[in-house]
Amino acid sequence: MEIIEQGTHIGSGETKKFECYNCDCVFKAYENEYVKAWHLGQSREGITAECACPKCGKTAFSHE
Ligand SMILES: [Zn+2]
Repeated sequence: MEIIEQGTHIGSGETKKFECYNCDCVFKAYENEYVKAWHLGQSREGITAECACPKCGKTAFSHE
């Protein structure tokens, strides 16, 4: 087989947009980098996943 178009994504799966409330950083994380909210044993309204902020290291949340 042959690659027709080189992909730019390094990770795999869907991406989610995260917002850090500590430093206002907005970033995208791949499925293998974040933890889905239903795996956390807690359900906070509107939060679908959480991931460590790449800038400050605090927990950032996704609402997508
Ligand atoms: Zn941050």
